[in-house]
Amino acid sequence: MRYRDITNPNIFDRRILLPLKDTIRLGRKAPNKSGITKRCTHKSNELCDFCSHPETLPYFVVPDKLKEKLGDKPTKLNIMLPKDDLLEVFPKSLSWYGLIGKKCEGNGQEAQYYDEKTRDWVKKTCPCEQLKTDENPKGQCQIHATFYFFLYEITMGGVFRIVMSSPRSINNILNGLELHRDILNRFSLIPLTLLREPTEITYEDDTGRHTRTIYPLKISSDLSLERMAELRASNKEMLLLAGRKQICLPEPADNKEAIEPEIVADEEEGNNTKSASLVTPKSITPLPTAPEVKVTNMQAKKIFALCNVLKLDGNKRKQLMKSLYETDTTKTLTMTTASDFIQRLQDCSDGAATLRYMPDGLPYVEYPPAQETQETDDKKDPEDIPF
Ligand SMILES: [Zn+2]
Ligand SMILES: [Zn+2]
Repeated sequence: MRYRDITNPNIFDRRILLPLKDTIRLGRKAPNKSGITKRCTHKSNELCDFCSHPETLPYFVVPDKLKEKLGDKPTKLNIMLPKDDLLEVFPKSLSWYGLIGKKCEGNGQEAQYYDEKTRDWVKKTCPCEQLKTDENPKGQCQIHATFYFFLYEITMGGVFRIVMSSPRSINNILNGLELHRDILNRFSLIPLTLLREPTEITYEDDTGRHTRTIYPLKISSDLSLERMAELRASNKEMLLLAGRKQICLPEPADNKEAIEPEIVADEEEGNNTKSASLVTPKSITPLPTAPEVKVTNMQAKKIFALCNVLKLDGNKRKQLMKSLYETDTTKTLTMTTASDFIQRLQDCSDGAATLRYMPDGLPYVEYPPAQETQETDDKKDPEDIPF
């Protein structure tokens, strides 16, 4: 008797990860009118959080290498979904992204929250006090959804993604997918169109009534009855393929760098953001585990930039990191420790904390004696908050 396979999934779990090909964006970073700020540490032709804001564009912002096939400013994309599981192709969560990364993520019932005092992830009830609502329009915690799909005319060997936070777009996509599932019993592996649909909205604020055009996402298809019948006939084998448990999609974007230009113009509907009304336990994905991934290039750059602002040279930076995280190279910092470090450096440059030196020259960060301190984000002027 020879054995040719391991049939115990606890020992050998065979999974196929669909690689992430690229991110398609809904907008761009636009320069602020006030231009370069005192806190900018880059060249004059670059932009950072201090001197730019997200701006929605009426088309899909596609990577340069795809422009030849998709056009410069496409408003329609031909897509197919790899799986029939909504929680996998369109995961959603309530998330709060600070300048440096994720601070809170929840499913509407419970959340993981990054506690800056203990520098650890803790469980919290969700929604948290930062939930963005009509009553709390400045709230930072809001729904984020990541949509994964094939651009089947380009490749079936990996998926593309769009991250969005507009409740209107999220609802439109859910409605489109559910409609196809109602008719065809599936939405996977069916040619669909994802489009930016010009929609006129009216909203009111202190200065009166305004009308403006927004470009939410929408799903549509031009399937004839005949084609639908064909698709239904092929359901069995297609569902088998799309239902294969082993096919896994990439993890949703979990740091601000990855999502930044997608999180655009949440004020798109005036003050009528409806984040809260969308939150039902069923519509939200299970919690991911806390990211312990390594620092991103963007974070490393921020660390260096902030060290420059504080006139902290390479040696001192290393000593400070060593005393805080027992590692002295930026490369070995994780998202959590890097975020913490950036926060401390920012606190020092904002005056919330002080960079001091021991008699032997070792640097340390001194915070004022513990009173109930406010969230550090509250102290920054509104322009500094990216969304
Ligand atoms: Zn800047
Ligand atoms: Zn929250």
